[in-house]
Amino acid sequence: MDNGRLCLLFGADEAELRQLCQKVGLPAYKGGILFKWLQAGEADYNQMTNLSKAERDLLAARYPLALPAVRQEQQSADGSTAKLLLDFGGGVMVELVLMLYQRSHSRSRHTLCISTQAGCAMGCAFCATGLSGLLRNLSAGEIVAQVLCGQLWLRRHNLGPVTNLVLMGMGEPFANYEQVCQALRVLNATAGQNIGQRRITVSTCGLAPQIRRFADEGWEINLAISLHAPQDELRSRLLPVNRRYPLAELLAACDYYTEKTHRRISYEYALLRGVNDGPEQAAALARLLAGRLAHVNLIPVNFVAETGFWPSSDETLNQFAAALQSQGVETTVREKRGLDIDGACGQLRRRQSES
Ligand code: SF4
Repeated sequence: MDNGRLCLLFGADEAELRQLCQKVGLPAYKGGILFKWLQAGEADYNQMTNLSKAERDLLAARYPLALPAVRQEQQSADGSTAKLLLDFGGGVMVELVLMLYQRSHSRSRHTLCISTQAGCAMGCAFCATGLSGLLRNLSAGEIVAQVLCGQLWLRRHNLGPVTNLVLMGMGEPFANYEQVCQALRVLNATAGQNIGQRRITVSTCGLAPQIRRFADEGWEINLAISLHAPQDELRSRLLPVNRRYPLAELLAACDYYTEKTHRRISYEYALLRGVNDGPEQAAALARLLAGRLAHVNLIPVNFVAETGFWPSSDETLNQFAAALQSQGVETTVREKRGLDIDGACGQLRRRQSES
């Protein structure tokens, strides 16, 4: 059975919970109490002891609650990465990735990578998730529930709170626009998890109209673009979305985003051996981003047998980075993390569903 409805309340904001309480005959302010419990990851009404027994029973009968079951848990040998396989029922499984940056002298950073859809319809050629197609959108409650599972995991390991979020797991966030925005509102709320907008990054493969719409939300959320190719012909082969929104249209939407939010945009570029990692692509990428408030994140990919793409060598990767830097493009190489656990997006989930 698909248990998606058991997560619904996790995606409700405080005002909605006040209304919900009124609807079932409880004082509105109880909605604020409920919001705090839900955003602390509490799924058992019996633990909400500042609600009366009668109130708890009423809510439990009307709005049953559950967080997804953790089916599998892995941690890399160096302790820097953990992955949880979350089961929402009905064959909907998502991977939650936790990246743990421990610092002795300042606050540790705990970044969660969360999913917005079960599967994905975008069909990017190099992506394991894209191979299986879209099962369904995740609700705001299911998106928030992933963060709560991460928060509970951190608490169990005596680590601090979730500090950063990246929406870079399964799915295209802007293909599930309303639910993603609702989840972001809830996660950002000061009475809840209070994750700052500047600590959240939404990654898109390039849905230009939604980028413009997101710019108009009035937020300061970071935007990452899965670019992966600096020329239309190649990009259309790797990311079919480029046939709908070619580079000129995508970059114009990105410029609009920068103009409205003043945020630097991150361009993600997975280096694929012999496909997009040559000097001519580095030069074209530098030309494309010249004069823009941009940052390139080069990604050393993990090999996923089904996609048929191979990672570039370290030497090629360093040359590509140096070529961009020599043209004044801010560039970093993403750290390889968690390679001793299933590294690539979708791998853990695929193995589980195949077993
Ligand atoms: S890379 Fe992202 S947008 Fe493309 S198929 Fe994979 S999950 Fe979907």
